[in-house]
Amino acid sequence: MPDSLDTPEAIVRASAADLAAALADRRLTSVEVTQAYLDRIEATEPAIHAYLALDAEGALATAAEVDAARAAGEELPPLAGVPIAVKDVACTRGLTTTAGSAMLAGWVPPYDATVVGKVRAARMPILGKTNMDEFAMGSSTEHSAFGDTRNPWDLDRAPGGSGGGSAAALAAFSAPLAVGSDTGGSIRQPAAFTGTVGCKPTYGGVSRYGVIALASSLDQIGPCGRSVLDTALLHEVLAGHDPLDSTSLDAPCPPVVDAARRGDVTGLRVGVIRDLLGEGLQSGVAARFTESLEHLRAAGAEIVEVDCPSFRHAVAAYYLILPAEASSNLARYDAMRYGVRVDGASAEKTMSASRAEGFGAEVKRRIILGTYALSSGYYDAWYGQAQKVRTLIARDFEAAFEKADVLVSPTAPTTAFRLGEKNDDPLAMYLADITTIPANLAGLPGLSLPDGLADEDGLPSGFQIYAPAMADDRLYAVGAALEARLHDAWGGALLDRAPALATHKENSR
Ligand code: GLN
Repeated sequence: MPDSLDTPEAIVRASAADLAAALADRRLTSVEVTQAYLDRIEATEPAIHAYLALDAEGALATAAEVDAARAAGEELPPLAGVPIAVKDVACTRGLTTTAGSAMLAGWVPPYDATVVGKVRAARMPILGKTNMDEFAMGSSTEHSAFGDTRNPWDLDRAPGGSGGGSAAALAAFSAPLAVGSDTGGSIRQPAAFTGTVGCKPTYGGVSRYGVIALASSLDQIGPCGRSVLDTALLHEVLAGHDPLDSTSLDAPCPPVVDAARRGDVTGLRVGVIRDLLGEGLQSGVAARFTESLEHLRAAGAEIVEVDCPSFRHAVAAYYLILPAEASSNLARYDAMRYGVRVDGASAEKTMSASRAEGFGAEVKRRIILGTYALSSGYYDAWYGQAQKVRTLIARDFEAAFEKADVLVSPTAPTTAFRLGEKNDDPLAMYLADITTIPANLAGLPGLSLPDGLADEDGLPSGFQIYAPAMADDRLYAVGAALEARLHDAWGGALLDRAPALATHKENSR
């Protein structure tokens, strides 16, 4: 624990765990912490644009209530008073929720998503809503209708996507924790691109009620943080059964915080997915991955190799299943109940003019693809086939988990790409999802943590861990063990070497 948290700079750089301890000991007040973050946001937002909406007043009001409750001796939840950012995909009562789409510009939900309700019950001040690709479709946040978010490591680079706003806020020290959503990697890939941590829980482990749906058989809400322990602490806040989400598992949250605190991998079998180490892997990312395996071996894990031959079809299957489900989910934006409305001569013309105006190009592309894949005569050939591939991928995982307790791969094949670099080539953007989408297709949990900087560009690379369903705690055990070894090797956290908002060229390795 740092001995002093007496400057705003020290406060925003502290971990959520340390902030929670300082708040509990009354060395800090939540108002001080929240104000330090609001000031940091004011300083960093002109360069980063991580947020779409801020709620300074609401955050400070929650903070003041927490401080008063603490002064009155009330028993408070572990993260009480620690601020948080929420991806703009989750409904927040009284605070705009747009999912990054012009379709929902200015929309203020009348209710909270279950996860937002849990954050409020945990007494965490909500700083604001973070930027994202429109309806969570994308890998760079460039498909947001409200402008790009920049990567704090290099302002010319993308922060990843779709949850680039949350990840950039963490890396810029303008939020200590964030809520994300992951349908094909939108928590893990931005974590990798920004040197932060993110977890996609087991499908059904966290409620999606009140979260704007993308592809319902793949969508999962999860925690984002700057350390494995911080991410685990938020995981426990978010997880749990919710009768309002019919896919919610009626099971207790795996002991993720305990696992993160212990970080014990003695005797654990770590399976390297050979199929995810192929072509297109950046050499610096591969080098950090190999070193990380050595660290895990030194920590007592046994490294084995596994094959998942069907993973090579994962991108093709995902880009049929996702558009199919998205085309159906997005049918609700019909200009009748909410969203943009452009009046036409008939109901049908009003709907089509409104959808033409409200949706961006990537969303339209996927709606068209999905509608085609589901159309009669093509259904079996496209959607049906993709579902079969999905079964094969799940079977590959099952076979691999006979040989290993967790599986690992790089989180993304490359470090953060340049803004604009992949915009003209949707396929290039899709192909890079190969490492993350198998988890969503099989409903399994996955976690990404930074494992160093790639030699060729000095940008963070990500290490990904997969576990069997409901064994999310294993992700945190392995993540914490690796993180501890890496911190020893680096002499501190990776983000400490990123003078926030400087370009990576000014950061020495
Ligand atoms: N990049 C993936 C996509 O574009 C991930 C999306 C997500 O997880 N929301 O579909």
